[in-house]
Amino acid sequence: MNDHYIIKAESITKTYHSGRTIIKAIDNVSINIAKGDFLMITGRNGSGKSTLLHQLALLDSPDSGAIHIEEKNTTKLHEKGRMEFRLLRLGYIFQEYALIAELTAIENVMLPAMMLESIKKAKRKAFELMEKLGLEEKVNRLPSELSGGEQQKVAIARALINRPKIIFADEPTANLDTIASKDVLDIFKYLNQKESITIVMITHEPEELAYAKSKVQLSDGRIVS
Ligand code: ADP
Ligand code: MG
Repeated sequence: MNDHYIIKAESITKTYHSGRTIIKAIDNVSINIAKGDFLMITGRNGSGKSTLLHQLALLDSPDSGAIHIEEKNTTKLHEKGRMEFRLLRLGYIFQEYALIAELTAIENVMLPAMMLESIKKAKRKAFELMEKLGLEEKVNRLPSELSGGEQQKVAIARALINRPKIIFADEPTANLDTIASKDVLDIFKYLNQKESITIVMITHEPEELAYAKSKVQLSDGRIVS
């Protein structure tokens, strides 16, 4: 009955302690995200966007509240269960790509698949994905030998390799020029429309909001619109 929503977060709170100051980064936020949504999160610097995304993507756990993903109460999972859940269902893309500098592009892409299947299979899947993203000539390059846009596409391929249901992206175009930014957004649009992947993305750029199906604005750790 509830499976219209792929993510249901109820009253989540996350507090950071820095010396004597207490920062309520996320203050009692509830949010339901529909299956197939392309949701963009906006808000000023320090409004809690990255903290919220980390909680929703299970990279961190809230102090209180509950996060259900595909009907599963993830708050009840232990570290190992959470890691497995993430590996099988969720993809995460960082602003700074977060590629492993010592590994080639294809090795970076293969990594999450190698935790689930043979190296041979992982490599074949990685190559197919990279080909689809126009990276077939770059497979053996190191991240330092790629442009920012190419590095972000490698990071996207890595996030896609285990066929996630949801992709989370934290300002994925912030370090890219206009053309590379459009490339990345068009890939997200394709994944959302043709492969039915739910996208949850943080953006700073008002013009990127045109890609969104829905929007949420944060201010001081709360949803304001
Ligand atoms: P945004 O992504 O919207 O810029 P963040 O979620 O990164 O906001 O940060 C929200 C608030 O929490 C800010 O005041 C920030 O300084 C603080 N914060 C974020 N991460 C940490 C941390 N690891 N330790 C202490 N404070 C943090
Ligand atoms: Mg941030």
